[in-house]
Amino acid sequence: MAWKTLDDAALAGKTVLARVDINVPMEDGRVTDATRIEKIRPTVDDIIARGGRVVLLAHFDRPKGKVVPEMSLGHISGAVASVLGRNVVFASDCIGAAAEEAIAKAGPNDVVLLENTRFHAGEEKNDPALAAEMAKLGDVYVNDAFSAAHRAHASTEGLARLLPALAGRLMEAELRALDAALGNPVRPVVAVVGGAKVSTKLDLLGNLVSKVDHLVIGGGMANTFLVAQGIEVGKSLAERDMAPTALEILEKAKASGCQIHLPSDVVVAREFKAGAANETVAATACPADAMILDAGPQTVQALTKVFEASKTLIWNGPLGAFEIVPFNAATNAAAQAAARLTREGKLVSVAGGGDTVAALNQAGAASDFTFISTAGGAFLEWMEGKELPGVKALLG
Ligand code: ADP
Ligand code: MG
Repeated sequence: MAWKTLDDAALAGKTVLARVDINVPMEDGRVTDATRIEKIRPTVDDIIARGGRVVLLAHFDRPKGKVVPEMSLGHISGAVASVLGRNVVFASDCIGAAAEEAIAKAGPNDVVLLENTRFHAGEEKNDPALAAEMAKLGDVYVNDAFSAAHRAHASTEGLARLLPALAGRLMEAELRALDAALGNPVRPVVAVVGGAKVSTKLDLLGNLVSKVDHLVIGGGMANTFLVAQGIEVGKSLAERDMAPTALEILEKAKASGCQIHLPSDVVVAREFKAGAANETVAATACPADAMILDAGPQTVQALTKVFEASKTLIWNGPLGAFEIVPFNAATNAAAQAAARLTREGKLVSVAGGGDTVAALNQAGAASDFTFISTAGGAFLEWMEGKELPGVKALLG
């Protein structure tokens, strides 16, 4: 890989500024899900094992360039200490005397946690002066925040240009998985794109049809493609004004040899609620007073065949309204098929997206996938083929 990692630099005696994503959800002053903190542990432990001093740079919530006491990282320093199993020295600013004193005071096995980078207006503006102040604090920069890499901020981009820059372990794992899925994948590659709307995933669809061998379109957005082909979808969620765009995507797919798979059968209901009376009909036969809420079993069977014929799977977006039972059936079955093929060593499977991760967890399939990205917006921008400034800066 083109980027440098913790293996490529001598860290002994060095102060390492590590940009991490510990923007964890909180309720009543308590961290409700510490996953993001757990995920930085390999990088923290590795830097310390190599004799480096760890100084964490991170944002928290959206203070918009002002000091907002409720958004202080001080509130989670206890959680950081207990999850990492280390003493945490908190600094009330991410630059200047407060930061310098905390770094000087910390022992070699301690972790220094600097205050919310977004308390400074220069962070989101990628102000070189702020980056220079940060750079003064350390010798080496490590970026372990892939999920913040789609933003060119002082701590994610500017700083990487001022110090020797390395990818942390989590960043490395994410980049490697994404490269295996779309950068240099083993073919054939199948992409599954579902979710509610075509309009939110236009760039993503446009990029995928030029890169993958099979594109499975599911969820509400499949309805728009059905409409574009002159098929009536009753009261289903569909963006009728996007029909010409859907046709353009189908044309582009044809030109680049990407085979499109749309549902052949669908599950329809008259009400959008759990346990609503439903029936399975051909995709061409949605009753005028009904809406399509899931793909049908025949579609899932065809999809499983495509998975079986593929070597790599990349997935974003559920195949149906998975939050309501039984309209999670197609997503569950497809997820379980992908999980089985991955377990058997026949498929490399990578998935991401907020609802997608929730759906794969619900299906009990997530832990069998090769890689599940929790990077949200950064994962989607990467699927759209966009260059991520934080990743680009690591390449020098
Ligand atoms: P992600 O967060 O993984 O990127 P999206 O936000 O694009 O995924 O899509 C998820 C949403 O799509 C879910 O709320 C789901 O209920 C909705 N959805 C999927 N299929 C349908 C459908 N047929 N009708 C209405 N909503 C649907
Ligand atoms: Mg979503």
